[in-house]
Amino acid sequence: MRTRNAVARDYYGILGVSREASDDEIKRAYRKLARQFHPDVNPDPEAQEKFKDINAAYEVLSDDRKRQIVDLGGDPLAPGGGGAGGPGGPGGAGPFVGFQDIMDAFFGGAAGGARGPRPRTRPGADAILRLELDLHETAFGVEAPITVDTAVLCTTCSGAGAAAGTHLATCEACGGRGEVQSVQRTFLGQVVSARPCTVCQGYGTTIPHPCPTCAGDGRVRTRRSLTVKIPAGVEDGMRIRLAQQGEVGPGGGTAGDLYVEIHERPHDVYSRKGDDLHCRVTVPMTAAALGTRLTIKTLDSEETVDVKAGTQPGSTLRLRARGVPHLRGTGRGDLYVHLDVRTPTKLDADQEKMLRDFAKTRGEEVAELSKQGGFFSRMRDAFNGHA
Ligand SMILES: [Zn+2]
Ligand SMILES: [Zn+2]
Repeated sequence: MRTRNAVARDYYGILGVSREASDDEIKRAYRKLARQFHPDVNPDPEAQEKFKDINAAYEVLSDDRKRQIVDLGGDPLAPGGGGAGGPGGPGGAGPFVGFQDIMDAFFGGAAGGARGPRPRTRPGADAILRLELDLHETAFGVEAPITVDTAVLCTTCSGAGAAAGTHLATCEACGGRGEVQSVQRTFLGQVVSARPCTVCQGYGTTIPHPCPTCAGDGRVRTRRSLTVKIPAGVEDGMRIRLAQQGEVGPGGGTAGDLYVEIHERPHDVYSRKGDDLHCRVTVPMTAAALGTRLTIKTLDSEETVDVKAGTQPGSTLRLRARGVPHLRGTGRGDLYVHLDVRTPTKLDADQEKMLRDFAKTRGEEVAELSKQGGFFSRMRDAFNGHA
């Protein structure tokens, strides 16, 4: 079994969780490791590398779509992870996450301290698209037109969200901090708690005159056409990654990736197993006995093959390198032709006589069913060797 990426990283191993780990378990494992290896806490250079790995693993396993890719044997962070197509893009672990951000993520807005407003611009999500191809296209590759529905950057405001000639304003409710604090007196003393500002949703700014095109979101949903280059030899279920062709983030944030998932339509004649193809060809009993020459239509050619005299039902002919081209490396799979030998079902009187004479010359005893006992007595005779 081939995997799409030679070295898919062991994200589960990095976090030390099982493949069945729940979201909570993943979060707990990440939090524990992040505290241990964060560069603010652990200046050791090795710890920094480890911290990057931990972040990458959490980025992947906390995202259902990316986790699914891992479970399918892929690596959503591998550069050009799809193996083909796509403009190629930055891999790596995404934006560096600060220690405070980690704590914020777990403690909500309640951690207190100087945290500042949350950014309006955030990275976009990945998108996935199903592409139906027929066997000829998966085998030999194709440039397939696709229609993608995603959020794209709003060109009116370039993602800023404010109408032309206007600007964001500092939120008056929170003074731009993005949160409001309240002080409560309790038996433990004063407790200061902070919660996100509801007026600016924690951004610290408001948009007094939102862009009329995107209503301040910095992005608009649109339908666009792309061409995706499908390499020869792809298989059903494989995904091709188009870097940064996914959803543009809020505030015009960097687009996520687009995964094009290949679905191969069943073929009328060939069934596919890996890169090998299988088909069935029926030959009459006489041809199987005497031998014959068949013309087999392969995916991309016609081949003449000899069926040897005395061929048995269920025999297989193997046509080397007439299957699907290998996705990696050179060469092709094979085409297996399974031979069904057909016994004639209707014989006229002459044909029946000839066949009986033929049987006689071979010393094969043939009962005349109409003159024999019922089905069960014939069965009994067959088992007793009297047939
Ligand atoms: Zn806009
Ligand atoms: Zn505010």
